[in-house]
Amino acid sequence: MQHDRTRPAPGPFLFRSGSFPRKAGLTHVDGSDTLQPVTGEHPESPASDPSAGTVEMVPVELTVLGGTLRATIPVPRGATTPGAMLDVFRGVAEAVIHLSVSSVQRQGRAISCRAGCGACCRQLVPISETEARDLIAYVEGLAEPRRSEIKSRFARAVERLDTAGMRDLLMAPWTQPVDAARAAGVEYFRLGIPCPFLENESCGIHLRRPIICREYLVTSPAERCANLDGVDGVRIPRRASIALNHLGQDPARSHTRSVPLTMIFEWAKTAQPPPPPRPGAQIAREFLHLLDRTGG
Ligand code: SF4
Repeated sequence: MQHDRTRPAPGPFLFRSGSFPRKAGLTHVDGSDTLQPVTGEHPESPASDPSAGTVEMVPVELTVLGGTLRATIPVPRGATTPGAMLDVFRGVAEAVIHLSVSSVQRQGRAISCRAGCGACCRQLVPISETEARDLIAYVEGLAEPRRSEIKSRFARAVERLDTAGMRDLLMAPWTQPVDAARAAGVEYFRLGIPCPFLENESCGIHLRRPIICREYLVTSPAERCANLDGVDGVRIPRRASIALNHLGQDPARSHTRSVPLTMIFEWAKTAQPPPPPRPGAQIAREFLHLLDRTGG
């Protein structure tokens, strides 16, 4: 699990996105591109039109796969929260993913992830607290009976994890040795608990799915994901999911507090309030700094 530092963990803590990545308003990478927010239908998402005066443009410069990604991103001009900027972070993530996929394709490999293949959506999915809050708000905003249906899936998942005695470990993996946390990922997968958002083996929240879901792409056959055996993943050299885990957290803290997706409602019962609003540009620069420290 990515609960320590900014390095991605391999294997069972990763999972697939349920779809082929979409472009993020990026046709090529140079200083003239604007990475458009990828909408998760957040009501406070920044508009991409800086002429409105409510947004400002923040430059992006990232080393990716031996090249430099230069672009700009639109962020709220005033005080805001990481949650209100999720679409911006998704846009940056998708740009990096797009470059990674292009690189893989140039090597003659093809992405095998397809809609209707949800084998990896039974893996442990550690998401950022920002995304946990976003998904809780999404579920709570659903009309009945849909809301109760989704929440009952979460409850069933938690019940199974409780029966397996995994609650404490999953809620605070940083208290365990890395090997124990890794073993828990394998055990979690063995339980075969589907993500509560999985519908007919496809992601039911495609536009809103966590960034770590977008970052999991493979070129090996689906059966290997189903067996966690010989999975050939696409290396994503800059991990927006990990940067988001660290965003706004005390840099002196030795771990990040990612949240298992299936446990978000349990986490919310004791969660700290979100950090106070800050200028959008400040949040964006911190995110980009953290992003630059991930991968290699
Ligand atoms: S949110 Fe759930 S169903 Fe959607 S891609 Fe992620 S793990 Fe799969």
